[in-house]
Amino acid sequence: MTLMEDAKRGIITPSIETVAKAEGIDPETVRFCVAKGLIAIPVNNRRETLPIGIGKYMSTKINANIGTSRDCIDIDAEIEKAKAAEAFGAHAVMDLSTGGNLDEIRTRILKSVNIPVGTVPIYQAAASRKIVVEMTSDDMFNAVRKHAKQGVDFVTVHAGVNLNSLERLRQSDRIMNVVSRGGSFTLAWMLHNGEDNPFYAEFDYLLEIAKEYDMTLSLGDGMRPGCIADASDRPKFMEFITLGELVKRSRAANVQTFVEGPGHVPLNEIELSVRGMKELCNEAPLYLLGPIVTDIAPGFDHITGAIGGAIAGMHGTDFLCMVTPSEHLALPTLEDIKEGLLVTKVAAHTIDLIKEGQRERAWEKDLSMACARRDLDWEKQFELAIDGNRARKIRDARRTESDTCSMCGDLCALKIVKEAFEKKKIEK
Ligand code: SF4
Repeated sequence: MTLMEDAKRGIITPSIETVAKAEGIDPETVRFCVAKGLIAIPVNNRRETLPIGIGKYMSTKINANIGTSRDCIDIDAEIEKAKAAEAFGAHAVMDLSTGGNLDEIRTRILKSVNIPVGTVPIYQAAASRKIVVEMTSDDMFNAVRKHAKQGVDFVTVHAGVNLNSLERLRQSDRIMNVVSRGGSFTLAWMLHNGEDNPFYAEFDYLLEIAKEYDMTLSLGDGMRPGCIADASDRPKFMEFITLGELVKRSRAANVQTFVEGPGHVPLNEIELSVRGMKELCNEAPLYLLGPIVTDIAPGFDHITGAIGGAIAGMHGTDFLCMVTPSEHLALPTLEDIKEGLLVTKVAAHTIDLIKEGQRERAWEKDLSMACARRDLDWEKQFELAIDGNRARKIRDARRTESDTCSMCGDLCALKIVKEAFEKKKIEK
C-alpha cells in the first residue's frame, strides 16, 4: 500500500507523524493533505529515508543538484557534495549524473545521505545507447524501474513533453527552444522516431512502477523557458495543462506527485506563472529552479535564482531547487554548492515568514534576532544567523574593543538611544 493510499484510508503513518512533528502541524491535517495530493512525502518503500513534507503548510524545502557530467567524472567529489549538501541544510539531493558509472554513483549517493534522493532516469536510458535518440521506450522504463528498485525516492519524468506541446513549440517564436536536458532528449527522440513520448503515451505503466515502490513522480517541465523572453508562452502553458491531467491520474492511482516549474521568468510574470501552474495542476506541490529573473548575471545566478524563488514563494512555490554561482557556466564545485545552498536558505526563510502554517515559527526567529541586535548580543546573533560562522568571521575581521560593530563604532545608534533613555531613567 502506498503512503497516499494509507492517508486516504485515514491512517496516520509514522512518516506523516514525523513530518507533522517537524513542521509543528497537526498530524490529521498532514494526513488530509497527503490524501488530497497537496503535500508530498517522498519516501521509497525500499529505503530508510528521513521523511520530508513538501507542500501546503510545510516549511519551504530545498533541493541540491549534484552529479557528474561527461566532462567531469569524480565520484568521490560528488559524494562529498551530497554529504555537504545534507550538512548545510538541503532537504533533498538530486543525482543528475551523466558521466561515468551511473549505477555506482547512484548507489553511493543513496548510502551517503538520509534525506530523499531524486534522479532523472532518462539520463541513464540515453547513456545506454551511442546516440540519445536510439534509446528505446524499454530503456526508458527499465531505467525508471532500476532506480525505483534501488530506493530512489523521487524521479523526474518529462511526461508533459508530448506531440501537443511539440506542436505548440513549432508554432512559437521562442528564442531558446528547449533548455531542459531531459526535455531535449524526449523531444529529439519524438522527432527522430515519429512517435509520442513513451512516458506520456504509457503513463499508466509509469504509475504501476511508481506505485510498486511508493516512489514519488516529479513531473518535469521539459518546456521550461531558458530566458526571460520565453517566460510565459504557449508551449509552457500547454505542458502545464498536460501535467495537471497527469497529476489527476497520479492521485487516482495513489502515486504522489509534485510539479516542476520554470526556469527564467521576469519579476512581473512570476505571479502569473506560479498561480497558473498551481491552478492547472490542482494545487500540487510546486518545485522550482529559480526562477532566474535576469539573463545577464552569470556568476550571480544563485542570487538571481533566490530573488525569483522568494517572489515565487509569495505565490505558492513549495520546493526550491538550489541555484549555484556556476549555473550556466560549469559543473558546480563543493564551494559553489555550499554558497548556492546558503543563499537558497535565505530565500526559503523569507517565504516561510509569510507562508500559512509556518509564519509564526519563522517570525519567532526574526524577533529573537531583532532583540539580540538591540542588545548587541553578538553570540546570540551568530546562533540565530542562517550562517553564523560567516557572520562571526566578518565581524571578527574588522573588530574593535567596543561592544558595537565597526560600522558606526562610538556612534552606534542602538547604544546612543539606550544610554539616553537610561540617563533620563525612562523605561524602554
Ligand atoms: S555600530 Fe551601527 S551597525 Fe553596528 S550595531 Fe551599532 S548601529 Fe548597528
